[in-house]
Amino acid sequence: MKVTEHIAQAKDTLVSFEVLPPLKGKGIEALYKHLDPLMEFKPSFINVTYHRSEHVFKKNADGSFQKVVIRKRPGTESICAAIMNKYTVDTVPHLICGGFSINDTEDALINLRYLGIDNVLVLRGDAAKNETAFEPEPGGHKYASDLLQQVANLNAGIYLEDELKGTHKTDFCIGVAGYPEKHFEAPNMDTDLQYLKAKVDAGADYIITQMFFDNAKFFAFEKACREIGITVPIIPGLKPIYTKKQLNVLPKTFSIELPTDLSNEVLKCKTDEDVEKVGIEWLLAQSKELKKAGVPVLHYYTLGRPLVVADVVKNL
Ligand code: FAD
Repeated sequence: MKVTEHIAQAKDTLVSFEVLPPLKGKGIEALYKHLDPLMEFKPSFINVTYHRSEHVFKKNADGSFQKVVIRKRPGTESICAAIMNKYTVDTVPHLICGGFSINDTEDALINLRYLGIDNVLVLRGDAAKNETAFEPEPGGHKYASDLLQQVANLNAGIYLEDELKGTHKTDFCIGVAGYPEKHFEAPNMDTDLQYLKAKVDAGADYIITQMFFDNAKFFAFEKACREIGITVPIIPGLKPIYTKKQLNVLPKTFSIELPTDLSNEVLKCKTDEDVEKVGIEWLLAQSKELKKAGVPVLHYYTLGRPLVVADVVKNL
């Protein structure tokens, strides 16, 4: 079922979770162990992130270096299918521009349809580790809106080989990313919102936001979206704080700010167990306020801490 169908049929705020594919070398059981404690909350869908390959330099025995390509977390599409099969829950694979030619993208979309997956979250992806700025794959897409157009084309039965006749029309429900605190590359919020609107105008069915820790920022973003004519559902993305280190890592990695009240509380903590308690309380308060405001779904980035998220959702 599509994310938008879940939302249309819901009588109350839904919950959804986001997970990472297991690290290469770990079995899928590690992921099931992560998901098991979350399934009692009946998530409407589970997102699985996509991780592009990286170039790394390996030192040879003679001291020289060799450039090798590694992919730490492969398998997004098949993991989605495995999760659907094990838990009978809808999944949303993330699909990125980085590392994909348009032919690779078409093949990936065809595979997703064969696997019975109705949803995709289309993203540009970040720069590869060896790049200073995002570089599209030769013959690949530069922006999420270009990738979205390809998905929309396939939904209309338009494949890359235009001589194909009587083609199957896919029917993907398409999500895109939004940034309550602006995407780090955008010159200002208004420009970022114009590009977000372009994604919606090109066929995005809903928006999931980057994590934020200050609900006021989400509400202002939602208001600004509505003012420029974005009418699709906007789903808040939420993440718990559980270590002191995150006070510096999260702003640097995701270009977001943490509210002073939260950072002060975390700084007072003596151990990371104490930080976890602060994080749970903060996320619960955020979630309750968003639910009261009528958001369609609370989407939790569970990455690494399913039990912390479970503690929050249990108390909603
Ligand atoms: P875009 O919408 O393409 O925007 C990128 C930048 O370009 C923005 O600054 C925008 O304002 C600007 N822009 C957009 N269109 C145009 C245009 N036509 N002309 C000029 N400028 C334009 N990354 C992964 O690698 N894997 C994942 O699984 C993943 N999951 C994510 C899930 C969520 C909910 C979010 C919020 C992010 C996720 N990311 C993931 C990170 C994401 O790939 C990065 O934030 C990336 O830098 C931007 O992706 P986007 O889809 O928002 O890009």
